[in-house]
Amino acid sequence: MASVSSSSRLNKVVRQQYMSLPQGQKCQVTYIWVDGTGEGLRNKTRTLDAEPAGIEDIPEWNFDGSSTYQSEGSNSDMYLVPVSMFRDPFTLDPNKLVLCEVLKYNRLPAETNHRHRCNEVMKTLAEYSLWFGMEQEYTLLGLDGHPFSWPTNGFPAPQGPYYCGVGANCAYGRDIVECHYKACLYAGVKISGTNAEVMPSQWEYQVGPCEGIHMGDHLWVSRFLLHRVCEDFGVLATLDPKPVKGNWNGAGCHTNVSTRQMREEGGLQHIEAAIEKLGKNHKKHISTYDPHNGQDNMRRLTGLHETSSIHDFSAGVANRGASIRIPRQVGKDGKGYFEDRRPAANCDPYLVTGIIAETCLLESEESS
Ligand code: ADP
Ligand code: MN
Ligand code: MN
Ligand code: MN
Repeated sequence: MASVSSSSRLNKVVRQQYMSLPQGQKCQVTYIWVDGTGEGLRNKTRTLDAEPAGIEDIPEWNFDGSSTYQSEGSNSDMYLVPVSMFRDPFTLDPNKLVLCEVLKYNRLPAETNHRHRCNEVMKTLAEYSLWFGMEQEYTLLGLDGHPFSWPTNGFPAPQGPYYCGVGANCAYGRDIVECHYKACLYAGVKISGTNAEVMPSQWEYQVGPCEGIHMGDHLWVSRFLLHRVCEDFGVLATLDPKPVKGNWNGAGCHTNVSTRQMREEGGLQHIEAAIEKLGKNHKKHISTYDPHNGQDNMRRLTGLHETSSIHDFSAGVANRGASIRIPRQVGKDGKGYFEDRRPAANCDPYLVTGIIAETCLLESEESS
């Protein structure tokens, strides 16, 4: 199989002729949702008669859940409830992307709609002014599933020169990274940075800080944009937490967390109190930090390659081999935020931010 898709080689000059046609008052709105795998994203587009001013102007819609691993064929209509609106960086203004929650026929949240509960938790805890920042790592693959631009038979030179590297022998696929960054900015996704990762063809971008429920919304839309940009280039982005076995880094989704108290004078003691609670709930968190109950992270959290062991909880200042890291600057300032390094690249950000919020701020004493 060719490593780059045929679609990506269609004539883009011809495409441009049509893309620049005026569209009158009409507005294209692309509805985006998480499918029944809890990892996959789906989307479909409809025309509205006018540009929506806000999310309340975008009507509910529906789709066939039996084709997305989301329902039985006999009762397959699912509701799409618009929750967050972005600009469409592909068809441009006035067109929109809209992230949706999925409800079943009885209007209860679908199994993989973890936003619903997360939103309730975040509303309950609004007074804490919870901020999150997530570091999304991912790996570029050719259509054949082989890491993008790696030798067909064999491996690139060992890890070392690639992290934050520059040059054709260090940075594989930067076009995608730069286009995705611009697409996020245009869309209104709160992307805050990017860097090449330790393994060649592996990259990271950061989203945040975002308050409460917005973290999950922005991360999911950033992932949609990533897959969509990769489609244009004819390659794939995988969020598999350990795409290449052996002496190659895995991919995580480090989650940085703070409350207003943690950010203020004397914040470190609130950070330490939160870490203490996290330590008592390690197993519960591990089973929530990837879509397969910890099985995916099992391959990644080995204690090697800048990870902690999946079996142990640890925390430390500037320690990248710990479950929780307090950044050096935060240790020095005595306030700021902490980083949970355990979530896998393919985690659901609603589950991750939700359980961190609950453990640190809702539960008194519980162990697992
Ligand atoms: P690392 O050194 O772990 O690679 P990065 O620079 O990649 O750190 O990511 C830092 C993340 O921390 C960013 O997503 C940023 O939005 C987030 N962040 C910064 N300050 C805060 C804060 N006060 N609360 C929560 N998240 C924060
Ligand atoms: Mn980072
Ligand atoms: Mn990283
Ligand atoms: Mn990090």
